[in-house]
Amino acid sequence: MGGPVNSHLTPIARSMAADANYLWHPVHDCEDLLLAPYAMHSANSQGRRHRESPHPYRGPFQRDRDRIVHTAAYRRLAYKTQVFTGNWGDYHRSRLTHTIEVASVSRTLSRALRLNEDLTEALALLHDIGHPPFGHAGEDTLDESLRADGGFSHNGHALRIVEKLEKRYPGFFGLNLSIEVLESQDFRVRKSKGGQSPLLEAQAVEAADSVTYDTHDADDALELGLLRLDELLELPLWHEARRRVRSKFTGLTRKELRRSVYRELIDWHVSDLIRVANERLGQFAPSSAGDVRRLPEIISPSDELREKKAELESFLHERVYRHAKVLQMRARAQQYLTEMIHGYVLRPALMPKTFRRRIGTEGLRRTVGDFVAGMTDRYAHKQYRRLFAGD
Ligand code: MG
Repeated sequence: MGGPVNSHLTPIARSMAADANYLWHPVHDCEDLLLAPYAMHSANSQGRRHRESPHPYRGPFQRDRDRIVHTAAYRRLAYKTQVFTGNWGDYHRSRLTHTIEVASVSRTLSRALRLNEDLTEALALLHDIGHPPFGHAGEDTLDESLRADGGFSHNGHALRIVEKLEKRYPGFFGLNLSIEVLESQDFRVRKSKGGQSPLLEAQAVEAADSVTYDTHDADDALELGLLRLDELLELPLWHEARRRVRSKFTGLTRKELRRSVYRELIDWHVSDLIRVANERLGQFAPSSAGDVRRLPEIISPSDELREKKAELESFLHERVYRHAKVLQMRARAQQYLTEMIHGYVLRPALMPKTFRRRIGTEGLRRTVGDFVAGMTDRYAHKQYRRLFAGD
């Protein structure tokens, strides 16, 4: 495809269109113009497990992003706990709004570094899709209950969802995502793969996830009254952010100060990540996405910021994640899920037919795990009360 008149093409695309072996695509043309050589270019994708024809105007990673957005698992993130549950009002982040914030920050990183934004966004929207109900309490319970069957991790479960559990196409299970998307998510599961590094688009999402939860967990905890602003402002990270805010604004109310510090923190983190990444890219000069795999990590914070982030994280760990109310919620969630998993294992007939059919191939306990992991917090509550409370 190149069309009889290709005068609208860039010189690179024109020369490629002239090569009979090169499959020209409008997205390749845009990427040739906009992306850095070390970005993951759609034209170099290894494709999909099940062969598909190219879409006339969407690139492969755009299609991946769209497929993820249209899954039931993605929509259910709206009713899954990030750190705080729905019983605590409507201000705090859900797993879905956390995901959207990660996508926003990682796209900013991606654009500034001239990476593939479509791939970055697909990876961001996918990164937490495997989270079970009730956040990490749910994950730990599933992991314990499935210990003899290989355990459970939300990162690994995301791959199960997009490869096995979602049924969208007549010929196969899963979403048939591009190999680069699956491999990048697999990095989240295994952390290291024979000394290779993830693509820069995946590194952007990893860094954005950390920026996002560090900032929004503190913001949610402030709003819910678990922390006081003065306490956070004593930490070096927040202290420095306040100093920066004060150099720009005077006479702020407490609320304005809090919002401004929050905004400053994200901007500081993102600017630091871009600065450090550009320094490393200058130093290593990768000329392709393949080169990036052989290099040390490029997108990570400076030593100064990493140190300050670590102090905030240990503070949040003590004061928020181990707060009596959060621990109480955690204990209740673990009790619900443990009893439910046990109950469904004893009485698999209580599960829907689509899950019962999988028992033969996947095993009973893994199937129960898949069913329970897919539940939203409120559906899990409802099922527990309907079927197991008082067992
Ligand atoms: Mg996350």
